[in-house]
Amino acid sequence: MSTIKDKIVLITGGANGIGKIMGEKCLQEGAKALVIWDINQANLDKTTAELKAKNYKVYPYNVDVSDAKDIQENANRVLEEVGVVDILINNAGIVVGKMFKEHTSKEVQKTLDINVGGVMNVTLCFLNQMIAQKEGHIVNIASASSYTPNPKMSVYAASKWAVLGWSESLRLELKAEKCNVNVSTILPGYIDTGMFKGVKQPLLTPVLQPEYIAQKIVNAIKYNKVLVQSPWTVRLVPALRGILPLSWYDFVARNIFGVYGTMSDFVGRPKDEAVPEKQTAKMN
Ligand code: NAD
Repeated sequence: MSTIKDKIVLITGGANGIGKIMGEKCLQEGAKALVIWDINQANLDKTTAELKAKNYKVYPYNVDVSDAKDIQENANRVLEEVGVVDILINNAGIVVGKMFKEHTSKEVQKTLDINVGGVMNVTLCFLNQMIAQKEGHIVNIASASSYTPNPKMSVYAASKWAVLGWSESLRLELKAEKCNVNVSTILPGYIDTGMFKGVKQPLLTPVLQPEYIAQKIVNAIKYNKVLVQSPWTVRLVPALRGILPLSWYDFVARNIFGVYGTMSDFVGRPKDEAVPEKQTAKMN
């Protein structure tokens, strides 16, 4: 997609964090309408009010992206009430942030349902419409943890490795089809949104400012960038894992870059900021 102007943009998890910033940036680029899907009604109301006050066309929907039925029902509503989505940003995601042995199976399932199932099921609802109109762009927010293992991040890393593999495969399928639907996969390091509150910064890897990475992602749509790896040290990870014996990579990641200790003081979001449950959601 070389332009965002006059396009309909849908962002999941668009009521907070980088999703909220990307939404406003797309509207500033001239998007015809912004569709926000989020499970947090209070943030949905707040973000919608802020953007409407600036005379933007905003369509908020309370959707739980871990629920395929909820996704399908709301996708039907979007088609009827707004139109065909041109640009889809799969951004909603969660992290639990503890040792794997401490997880409940519900926490594992919920993380995979949102971070992996959500991304694929939302895309399924809009992809064929994009192919039919021979234009579209899908952005999938993975993570630097799509590349590296990390203690206290096992389930999150698993989900983001899955997003990377799926997103890159989808890109190849759509390229072969010559349907003019592009895919960008985003692999950011830690971002200062509160989702990873308490993490330590690895060597030479500053915690990203939300504005900065949001702009990079919007630019990826404008300039058809297939992969965004930020900051630059993220690029080192697959290179080092490819050329070093794994025990050497572990040494470098743990002792030189400090990657494996980044989550030791993780606290995440305080309880009152945590993602609420929708009535249809299955987790307690
Ligand atoms: P955030 O917590 O600020 O925003 C996430 C949004 O997703 C929230 O508005 C939340 O309500 C929504 N959401 C959560 N569960 C949902 C569900 N079931 N259905 C619909 N919406 C739901 O997070 P952020 O830091 O802006 O992260 C955005 C994306 O970037 C996520 O996919 C995250 O994994 C990824 N990421 C974040 C970081 C970081 O350090 N923050 C680093 C790399 C990648």
